[in-house]
Amino acid sequence: MNSLWLTNQKIFENNFENNSDIETDVCIIGAGIFGITCAYYLTNLGFKVTVLEKDFVGSKTTGHTTGKITSQHGLFYKYLSDAYDEKFAKDYLTANENAIKNIKDIIDAENIKCDFEYQNNYVYATTQKEYDALKLEQEALDKLDFNCDFVTKTGLPFDAKGAICFKNQAQFNSIKYLDGLCKAIVSKGGDIFTRNSCL
Ligand SMILES: Cc1cc2nc3c(=O)[nH]c(=O)nc-3n(C[C@H](O)[C@H](O)[C@H](O)COP(=O)(O)OP(=O)(O)OC[C@H]3O[C@@H](n4cnc5c(N)ncnc54)[C@H](O)[C@@H]3O)c2cc1C
Repeated sequence: MNSLWLTNQKIFENNFENNSDIETDVCIIGAGIFGITCAYYLTNLGFKVTVLEKDFVGSKTTGHTTGKITSQHGLFYKYLSDAYDEKFAKDYLTANENAIKNIKDIIDAENIKCDFEYQNNYVYATTQKEYDALKLEQEALDKLDFNCDFVTKTGLPFDAKGAICFKNQAQFNSIKYLDGLCKAIVSKGGDIFTRNSCL
């Protein structure tokens, strides 16, 4: 299946076939969102960073994501609270909320046009069994003092027995985002070398 993000989209490329020896402070292998985000932060801290990508930027997992930037990942907070404890679940939730803010801050700082939009995120139930599990998840979230809503109307084009809504979540085009990050890294003295182009 083709990825929406990788279709007809020209992205950052810089073929490394013809380059000779390079000196660098940090070498990062892989230009997915993780490698490129690390490269961005390290470049901003003043390190000379070189990223080596065997294919093209975002070509693997990052280029095939759903494009959601959320703290809600199925029914995860009941699981985390039970398997670890409420503090662990709360720390995880806080880190996820901070990540949404960090991505938005980077987009604003670097003026990256990547179709970022704030959206509500829903986990929904269509059966009684799912509904019961959803109620337990809501109880776990209430204990974490997180402001989310248990709703019965979602705006989705099908009926749901119930849903948990996280507000101020987001979506974006992950490849346009990486393209903007790559340009920022290179403009600040970093190097990113890829092997193949997307198109
Ligand atoms: C179907 C699906 C949907 C998802 N949807 C979402 C979502 O909506 N929101 C969300 O937050 N997360 C989502 N995720 C998870 C998220 O996409 C991944 O956690 C994230 O993209 C991983 O990024 P990465 O940089 O670690 O890996 P990758 O994007 O896979 O990057 C690794 C890079 O390293 C390169 N590489 C590997 N080996 C070498 C080597 N030896 N030399 C040079 N380069 C090398 C690869 O070519 C690749 O480009 C989804 C995952 C999947 C599978």
